[in-house]
Amino acid sequence: MAGRTLYRDAALADGSGPELKIGVSILVDAGRIVWILPTENEPQGDAEAKVVDAGGATVVPGLVDCHSHITLPGGSHWIDRGSDPPERLLEEAELNGELLRQSGVRWARDVGSPMTTDPLDGRRRGLALGVRDRWRNRMDRPYVRAAGTWVQRAGTIPGGVAAEASTPDELLTLSRQQLDDGADLIKLYLDGPKPEEAPWTGDDVRRVVTMAHARNAKVTAHSTTLPGARVCVDGGVDSIEHGMSLDEEVARRMVAQGTFLVSTLAVFRSWATFAQTTNQPRFVSDEARKRIAQRREGAYESLRIAHRAGVKIATGTDFGGGSLRANQLAWEVEALVQAGLQPWEALASATRRGGELLGEPEAGVLHAGGPADFFLVHGDPLTDPAALWRVWRVAWGA
Ligand SMILES: [Zn+2]
Repeated sequence: MAGRTLYRDAALADGSGPELKIGVSILVDAGRIVWILPTENEPQGDAEAKVVDAGGATVVPGLVDCHSHITLPGGSHWIDRGSDPPERLLEEAELNGELLRQSGVRWARDVGSPMTTDPLDGRRRGLALGVRDRWRNRMDRPYVRAAGTWVQRAGTIPGGVAAEASTPDELLTLSRQQLDDGADLIKLYLDGPKPEEAPWTGDDVRRVVTMAHARNAKVTAHSTTLPGARVCVDGGVDSIEHGMSLDEEVARRMVAQGTFLVSTLAVFRSWATFAQTTNQPRFVSDEARKRIAQRREGAYESLRIAHRAGVKIATGTDFGGGSLRANQLAWEVEALVQAGLQPWEALASATRRGGELLGEPEAGVLHAGGPADFFLVHGDPLTDPAALWRVWRVAWGA
């Protein structure tokens, strides 16, 4: 961290537009950007700075994974892993912290962790909250903004790891409890025990939103069904996670209300690999493949509807709460491009849009005076999102 570092003659892809800037130098001092200039205009005489010859590499803002579960490992048995003992989950969190940095993720928005007693601080609450607190002063760990545990209708998520409400009053109480526990945001679960039926009404959800907004916290909702998405907009949540069955009416209302969609399309890419790498019937059987293909079609179509309507799209891996791993956000950016976003829009979803959703003006953007939260890849992510996999170097936490 100490001293000045000059990254010389890189390309720059910051997600603000489709054009790759070439021949860019960046001077960093004690973790902040002093200037970003054309290499030919570098001021002379900064003999102090250590020069990093970045020739051929591309600078990208630190990524913002808006849908992560930092205490959970992911993989094809991701659901079982949620019931592992908290000591084990805290080990997984540290591994995830490493993976996030190595893959260029600077910010992780944790949208649900098991409700359990943290063996390190002794507090009973969403496990990610203690991890967030302990990572606060560690430059080698991402910044975390965390919901507590999932607030769900009793009987939806198995395993007793989430808060379970049976009445609208309990929904409000348990949501408030997350903020009392130190959560930065609230994560509602708008899929319910009955398929294709929302577990709460728009009015039920609005009470939670009103309470949270009065405390300067946002509310997001997991929703994969159309009835759930309607309740999300009726209730005025700030964002919809997954949103795999939106229609034009819901999309239009999301635009009007400024509701974000947080896409998680890469889960289908992950499951497709499990059809080859596992023998689990839920991925391998003919019936499973057909069902997954259908859901995938619906999710991509839903994303296209949202994009056409002008919904603000942030994105995430769902690592841990789904099957992806912590270092696979590039997969989601690829999926967004496949779904029809321009590569620069997809990169923006994984950077500045995420910062906007978090309400963190320095997340996912690069400017003189701001933090040196960038990493360098090989290739041009503005034409080829797969370049984001080819991480050479991470500027923070070194
Ligand atoms: Zn999730």
